[in-house]
Amino acid sequence: MKRRKFLKNSAAGSAGLISASLVVSCKQESNILPTNQKNLKSIKPIVICTWDFHNASAKAWEVLKDGGSSLDAVEQGVRIEEADINNQTVGIGGRPDRDGNVTLDACIMDKDGNCGAVLCMQNIAHPVTVARKVMEDTPHVMLAGKGAEHFAYEKGFKKTNLLTEKSKAEWQEWKKTSQYKPIINIENHDTIGMLAIDSNGDISGACTTSGMAYKIGGRVGDSPIIGAGLFVDNEVGGATATGVGEEVVRTVGSFLIVELMRQGKSPQEACEEGVKRIIEKNKDKVDFQIGFIAVNKQGETGGYCIHPGFSYRVYSENGHINHPSAAYIKT
Ligand code: ASP
Repeated sequence: MKRRKFLKNSAAGSAGLISASLVVSCKQESNILPTNQKNLKSIKPIVICTWDFHNASAKAWEVLKDGGSSLDAVEQGVRIEEADINNQTVGIGGRPDRDGNVTLDACIMDKDGNCGAVLCMQNIAHPVTVARKVMEDTPHVMLAGKGAEHFAYEKGFKKTNLLTEKSKAEWQEWKKTSQYKPIINIENHDTIGMLAIDSNGDISGACTTSGMAYKIGGRVGDSPIIGAGLFVDNEVGGATATGVGEEVVRTVGSFLIVELMRQGKSPQEACEEGVKRIIEKNKDKVDFQIGFIAVNKQGETGGYCIHPGFSYRVYSENGHINHPSAAYIKT
C-alpha cells in the first residue's frame, strides 16, 4: 500500500474511534456559512484563471463540462500554458535565470487539502503534473531542484530543453546590461494560477510559472508555495496569485484571502484586503505588480491588483469572460 494511502487509512481508522456525536457536531459547524454566502444559487462548474489565458480556461472548462473533476480540470488547463512555447512566463519557452537556466515552479491542491509542489525544477516540461505526482505518489508536499527532476524521470517524464531560441536570444541581449528590473505588467513574469469547481461542487487549484526572468539561480517565488501562490479549502473557496512572489510570500496571500472569505468577505472584498496588506508592508514603494483572484464555494469570483493592467478569465455557464481587474492604484 502506498504510504500516503496508508497514512490516510490509519487516520480514517482512528477517526472511527471518535464518537458519533463529535462527528455530527463537526458537520454542523461546517454548515455555518457567513451571511453573504447564504441562499445563493451556486454557480458550478466554473473555472477562473489569472490573466487572459483563454486557451487554458477553455481546456479546463472542457474537462468540467464533461463531468471531470476540478483537479483534472486545473491540471489540464494550466498544462496548455506550460506547453505553449510562445508563453515566456510558464513552462517550456519560459525566460531563464541570469545564468541561462530555465527553472520551473508549480503546485496543485485538491478538495481534501492534499497538495504537491515542485520548485526550481529544470528540463521537465510539465511541472504541474510532476507536482500532482508528488501529491499522489509520495508522502511529501514539495520536491526541489535535482530531486524534483530525478523524481520526474522516475515517473517517466522525458528530459526536455526548455530554453527556446527566442528566450535565449532575449537573455543574451539582457546580459549586455544585466539590469534586473521587473516591469509592472509587461511581461517578464506572468504566472497562471487556476481555480475550478466541478459539478460535485468540489474545488481544486493549480499554479505554474517560470518565475522572474533573469532571477538569481535557485530563486523561488510564491507560485509553488502552498498558502502563498495558491490555497484551496473545499469548505470555503480558493485563491491564487501572480506578480512579484516575494511580496505574496510575505503576507501568505492566498491563504489570507481564503481565511478572509471564511470570515464572511466576498471573493472581491477578500482580494482587495489581500492587496491592501501588501501595500501596508510597502507604503511608498509599490513599484511592482501583484494580482489576486478568488472563488468561493458558491462560485462567486473576484480579482484585484496593485496596478491597472491585470485581468482574469472566468468560464461558467454564464460565458467565457475576460475581466479587467480593478486596481489599488487608479492611474
Ligand atoms: N509569482 C511569480 C513569481 O514570483 C511570477 C509572476 O506571477 O509573475 O515567481
